[in-house]
Amino acid sequence: MALRDILTLPDPRLRLVSKPVGAVTDDIRRLSDDMLETMYAAPGIGLAAIQIGEPLRLVVIDLAKKDEERRPIVLVDPEITWSSEERRVHEEGCLSIPEYYEEVERPDRVRYRYRTLAGEVVEGEADGMLATCLQHEIDHLNGTMFIDYLSRLKRSRVLRKFEKAARREGA
Ligand code: ZN
Repeated sequence: MALRDILTLPDPRLRLVSKPVGAVTDDIRRLSDDMLETMYAAPGIGLAAIQIGEPLRLVVIDLAKKDEERRPIVLVDPEITWSSEERRVHEEGCLSIPEYYEEVERPDRVRYRYRTLAGEVVEGEADGMLATCLQHEIDHLNGTMFIDYLSRLKRSRVLRKFEKAARREGA
């Protein structure tokens, strides 16, 4: 396992549409290990492969609280197959937009489908934190970030802040 750098706003790679993983190879298993290690170190509750520069439809999630045992989930080629009409507002953050949190409105419940590393198909319905997290991470696979749901004013304010920081670092 290796700790990887997390891309941050305004890195243009975060806007790429990721490609299907297809068959799970040793490279994919290694990549998912790196993603978990990087997510735990950050720390965060979800990470998409593109956030470490790999444009593949691979996501890791662990919603366990600090004092609980880890519950890592690796999602290969995940999809949202249904979203509820009802929506709810939840505060979101993103490892690619460090230290920025804002309320986002999304469908309250979703149904999802993904494959495990072992090739099993998992389908389920989620609400609460898992529903938010799944939508947030699967958005990354399509080049969408949670700031895209904010008002134009809020979005341009956060973009400007991160563009300025990137210039300061000479990136
Ligand atoms: Zn994110």
